[in-house]
Parts: sequence; C-alpha cells; structure tokens
Amino acid sequence: MSETMKACVLHAVGDLRYEDVPMAKRGEGEVLLKIRAAGVCGSDIPRVFEKGTYHFPTIPGHEFAGEIVDADDKALIGRRAAVFPLLPCRKCAPCQVGEFANCENYDYYGSRRDGAFAEYLAVDIRNLILLPDDLSYACASLVEPGAVARAAVRRLEVKLGDTVVIWGAGPIGLIAAAWAKKAGAGIVRVVDISEEKLAFAKKFGFEAYDEARDGLCDCAIEGTGAPQALCNLIKSMKPHGRVILMGNPARDMTITQSVYSQILRREITLRGTWNSSYNDQINDWEATAKAMADGDLIDYEALITHRYPLDRCLEALEMMRDRKEFYTKVTIVMD
Ligand SMILES: [Zn+2]
Ligand SMILES: [Zn+2]
Repeated sequence: MSETMKACVLHAVGDLRYEDVPMAKRGEGEVLLKIRAAGVCGSDIPRVFEKGTYHFPTIPGHEFAGEIVDADDKALIGRRAAVFPLLPCRKCAPCQVGEFANCENYDYYGSRRDGAFAEYLAVDIRNLILLPDDLSYACASLVEPGAVARAAVRRLEVKLGDTVVIWGAGPIGLIAAAWAKKAGAGIVRVVDISEEKLAFAKKFGFEAYDEARDGLCDCAIEGTGAPQALCNLIKSMKPHGRVILMGNPARDMTITQSVYSQILRREITLRGTWNSSYNDQINDWEATAKAMADGDLIDYEALITHRYPLDRCLEALEMMRDRKEFYTKVTIVMD
C-alpha cells in the first residue's frame, strides 16, 4: 500500500487543503476503512469557516461509510460499514450505562481527531455498523443523520394518531418526519422558511404545516435553532404537547413572556436531544441501518442533491456556506 493518501486537511479556520498526507495506519482494535462516501454536515460549515476544529491540522468528516480493506479478522475484509463517530472514554458515569453521547471525555472522528474527508481512516472495531453488500455507500453515509433523527423521534414518544410537526426541513428533519410516521403519527407536517425546501419535502409526502387545516400539534421537533421558530412552535402546541429541542442554536434562544406563559398554561414538555444512542439496549444506528436495508423508511438516495469528488470538497463547503444552489444533502463520493 502507498505511503501517502489524499485528504482534505483543515490547517486553520477557512484553510482547507486537498493534499497528500501519511497513509492512515490501523492500531490495535482497529480496521482500515477505505472511505467511499462522506456526508457534509451542516455543522461542518461553521467548523471549517468560523470555529475551527479542536486542534490543527485536522481532517473533518464525521458522516461516513466505506469498505473494510484491512483487519485482524479476515472475515471483515470487503465488508461495507458505517461508523459511529464518537469514541467514548468507557470510564465515566454516562459511559458506564452506555450513554456514550453524554460521555465526559470523548474523542470524535472528524472534529477532535481526523475524520473521513480522506481516502482512508483507521476505525475502532467497536464503532462499526456492518451493512449488507447491496446497500449503496452514499446511502450508508446517511446512517448518521438517520440515527440522530431516530433518537429525537424516540424521545418524542409519539402516540398513535398524533399530529407531529418538524420545524426545519433539512435532511435530518425529513428523516425525522419519516421516523415519526413509522412511530404511528397520524399527521406529519414540516415547517421551513425556504419554499424550495418545502417543495422538496412534498416529494417525500410531507406537506407544509397549516394550523388552520391541521390544528394544534401533539408533538414537535425544533430543528432550526432559530428563536422565532421556537416561539411559533410553542404557540402551535396542544395542552400537554411534547417538544424535542434538536437544532443547534444560531444565537440566544430568546422567547417572549407570552410564549413562556403558554409553556406553563399548556403544560408543555420541552426536552433536549443530543446525538444518538449506541449501546446494547438502545441502538439508533443498528435500527437505522436495518430500516435502510429493508427500504421501509425514506428514499435516502433521493435526499442527496449534490455529489462531489474528494478534491472538490472545499467547493462543496463553499456552495453550502454561500447557499449558491438549493441543496439538501451534500455528499463526498469516492471510488
Ligand atoms: Zn453531523
Ligand atoms: Zn465516558
């Protein structure tokens, strides 16, 4: 195998370079994964252009799938896999009960350590989700947003016939809408400020929420991170409504006094969600991979509006940052 590989390396805020780096080497308990598809997450935009990674240089990319090309267990070679990107310490209290998303001292592919905007990555064997051979890699790279969406919907505790509204019709929002439907919701609607996103959502069977027609909601997911959306969302809730807060806040999430009062008067439950569960009892990753393989959730492939090769990764990120084109999921694909 060659001594070097191609990767997109973040050297400083805004300084992403496609270059040769030393070949990824697997250590004990790791396999070598040839990356075949890596999604660009909305969070990668501020990570690359505003906030940076935890240290430089770092290779971003945390939503990925690939082919196992080297492993101690030879039966794994050639297998397709998605990867849970969080590396828990396995020592702290949350880790002791398998709540790895709450780990107090975790590592993370693509933010705290090198990730998948590269030809290869050494991956902890415990983080592999093995997939069927006939599942496309592009599809497999969507297990991550699929698992995040599932975790959010799981926390909503949807009851049969509930009216569920998802605020924010990006890829996670649309997958969450599909999970809500599968969980037994009667009506599932979406809200977005972009008419193009609403038109795109309609192709998947999710119409825009209209309070006059659909009535107040039993459940809602806040996926925009915008204070005005949160206010409107709360106003649309039925008494005893359940709200999951999922969207990363773009700024302070200020709400008005009257909206705050409605939370009290209508006895609304607000609950946060973070990442996804990955343990023996609850595994959003295995469940997502299974639903994907069974083809009974959503047309994942159709969520991908843009595909870029690795050497054009920066162009993909700039297109998203500047909203040059309408996009939903942007994916880096590698042969
Ligand atoms: Zn992400
Ligand atoms: Zn831990």
